Amino acid sequence: MATGLLQNQTWNVGRAAKQCAACQTDLTPGAACWAALVGWPTGDKSERSKGDRPVEHPPYERLDFCTTCWEAGKRPLPPAELFSWWRTQIVTGEKKANPFVDDSVLLDIFNRLTDRTEVLDIRLRFVLALLLMRKRLLRYEGLAELSASQKEQFAHFTPPPEVWRMQQRGQEPETLVLNPHLTTDQISEVSQQLSGILAEELL
Ligand SMILES: [Zn+2]
Repeated sequence: MATGLLQNQTWNVGRAAKQCAACQTDLTPGAACWAALVGWPTGDKSERSKGDRPVEHPPYERLDFCTTCWEAGKRPLPPAELFSWWRTQIVTGEKKANPFVDDSVLLDIFNRLTDRTEVLDIRLRFVLALLLMRKRLLRYEGLAELSASQKEQFAHFTPPPEVWRMQQRGQEPETLVLNPHLTTDQISEVSQQLSGILAEELL
C-alpha cells in the first residue's frame, strides 16, 4: 500500500500541453481547445497506447484536444479514464493568471473519486470537498461511523480517517467524504497540485 506522500508522486504540473493529444497539431496561445482530465490506473506501467507517450504516467494528467478532433469524437483512450472535460483556451507564456476552472469540473472529479481507496485519491477528494464547501456547492452535515470493512481498509491511517456526511447542492442522497486529517500545509500542497494538473485556478 502506498504511503501516499504526495511529494513522491510525479505530476504534470503547471502547464497545458502545447499539442493536440489526438492529431499532435500545435495548439497556439489563445486558441480554443478542449481540456480533459484523465486518470491512469495506479501501478500501470505497461505501454498499451500507440505513439511516443511515455511509459509511466502521473496518476492524473490533463490532455488537450484541438476543437476539430474533440468535435470529431476523439477522446482519451483506455486505460486512461476520462474524469472530466471542459472548453478552455491555451494560455500564453507571459500571461500570469490561468483561467478559472469551472465548478462542474470540480464536481465531476469529486464524484468520480467517490469509491477510490488510494491515499492520494482520498486526499484529493477531501481537498475538493473543502473547495466545494467554500463555493457553497457542498454542505457538511455531520459525522458518520467507519464501517467494519472501512476500519480494516484504513487500518494504515493513524488516526483513522473521519467520515463526513455531506450534501451536494441540488442532490438528494448524502455523500460520504473521508477526512484523512491533513495539515494546513498538506491541504495547500494538494490544492496546488490539483491546480497544477488542471493548469487552471481553483478559486
Ligand atoms: Zn487535433
